[in-house]
Amino acid sequence: MSLPHFTSPEQMRQAADKWRCEGQRIGFVPTMGALHEGHLSLIRRSVADGNDVTLLSIFVNPTQFGPSEDLASYPRTLEDDSRLAVQAGATHLFLPTEQAMYPEGHRTEVRVTELSAPLCGQSRPVHFPGVALVVLKLLALIRPHKAYFGQKDYQQCLVVQRLTADMLLPTEIVACPTVREADGLAMSSRNKYLTPEQRKRAPLFQQTLQAIASRCREFPLEATAALAEGKQTLEQSGLAVDYLDLRDSQTLSPLDALTGPAVLAGAVFLGKARLIDNLLIEPSHKTES
Ligand code: AMP
Repeated sequence: MSLPHFTSPEQMRQAADKWRCEGQRIGFVPTMGALHEGHLSLIRRSVADGNDVTLLSIFVNPTQFGPSEDLASYPRTLEDDSRLAVQAGATHLFLPTEQAMYPEGHRTEVRVTELSAPLCGQSRPVHFPGVALVVLKLLALIRPHKAYFGQKDYQQCLVVQRLTADMLLPTEIVACPTVREADGLAMSSRNKYLTPEQRKRAPLFQQTLQAIASRCREFPLEATAALAEGKQTLEQSGLAVDYLDLRDSQTLSPLDALTGPAVLAGAVFLGKARLIDNLLIEPSHKTES
């Protein structure tokens, strides 16, 4: 492995303290590994922002997986990850062990209420508390100047922004655009679970979100009908809808019409994969003629 790396939180803290004392700016990209272009775009953004250090963490965080979810089978590809991370411009790696992140007898829970409850929080009740806990540990340990998150996980971005503000952490949270495959499918480590046949059907998810978004922009009061039709389209093609929803883009409160900035968000099951995606949409203001 050619990148300098840390495995113990204590080593990590000492290095980060030293960087900060030397006046070096730290950009931090937390991931669970199995890196793809989506992750690499966050590393490149940190480099482009002029950070002196771009630190990538890889940790498959057990507390954000429910008991029947894919913790054991989650892809782990450290050799490839390390090579791709260097190429994208990462300067250091943090690879903590589960034991180090969750010492014997750990008891602390972290909940960002309300923002964690709807959408993915409905079917994955332990997910955001697990994310909030691990992100708080990492940000408190490293105290980076900036931390980079992908809008593919839009709800996660909101939860982390709220957490950072509430905990008075000094880090700026930077939300970066979703990177997609050429056919529109949002890149995800979980796309590896799709069979070739399922992979061919997967872009219908993004296409359906686009169709719903267009209809909502054109007929803002028809959002509920557009969502219902979208659900039907997906189900008919064997994409089982976990949720498909239009929400206020900041509070995530439900919307039955496109009256302001909104997020159109969904999750579908396709074979062994649970795919998520979203679009940020606003009402189009028609000019009077
Ligand atoms: P994960 O390894 O899935 O926990 O993701 C680590 C970070 O990469 C999170 O901030 C994700 O939102 C981000 N990410 C994952 N997929 C994409 C993508 N397709 N485009 C942009 N960011 C992504």
